[in-house]
Amino acid sequence: MSLQTPQFIYFDLDDTLLNHKKAEQAGLRDVHQHFEMFNGISEEKLVDTYHHINKGLWEEYGRGEIDRHILHRRRFEETFRELGVDESKYEEAGITYMNYYRNHWEWIEGAKAAYEKIAEAYPVGIITNGFAETQRLKITQFELERTASHIVISEDLGVMKPHPQIFDHSTELAGVSRGSILYVGDSLTSDVKGGTKAGWQVAWYTLGPIEQGRQLADLVFDDFEELQRVLGVE
Ligand SMILES: [Mg+2]
Repeated sequence: MSLQTPQFIYFDLDDTLLNHKKAEQAGLRDVHQHFEMFNGISEEKLVDTYHHINKGLWEEYGRGEIDRHILHRRRFEETFRELGVDESKYEEAGITYMNYYRNHWEWIEGAKAAYEKIAEAYPVGIITNGFAETQRLKITQFELERTASHIVISEDLGVMKPHPQIFDHSTELAGVSRGSILYVGDSLTSDVKGGTKAGWQVAWYTLGPIEQGRQLADLVFDDFEELQRVLGVE
């Protein structure tokens, strides 16, 4: 587990640079308050049910079985059905959620300073799974295009990480050898496994206890100052 000085560094976006989980949770709490039909149903129940259903739908989406319109519809429709509330409200819920979700976007602690310092010393890029429209809004809001020389969004390519096509495409864009690319990401499956399989070095940002995969990453860190130290940009 030792990192060789990279020549190009790609960052994952959600839950690596930006706190998607926190924004999602806060957005769902706002949805809970917005609809009277949730009286008697706890916020926690709504969040848990939504997470469970949304996870399954993303897996279907990742396998190419459903498109994003179906995903957007079913994630609320099925959540409401399971909670026994009016499922015809899925559309209003989807719009309400997106508006609230956007209000809660923020950097992961320490990530802004680290990213900006690293971007001064290395060429950097972004690779993200997610919907092009939403991810572009984030990239604009956080002014990432000022520093990122390449931005790769899964929906534009038609495949999601860990699909090798995303990593091959990003390797070509970076224009350096595979082994001299470093990927910084939080997901074991999408980022750590996807990156190592592509022959890249991987720095795994993870806060929780690690059950498996530690040996795959060239660096495991839970504090962006550590990444800065390792890359020599303190
Ligand atoms: Mg992520």
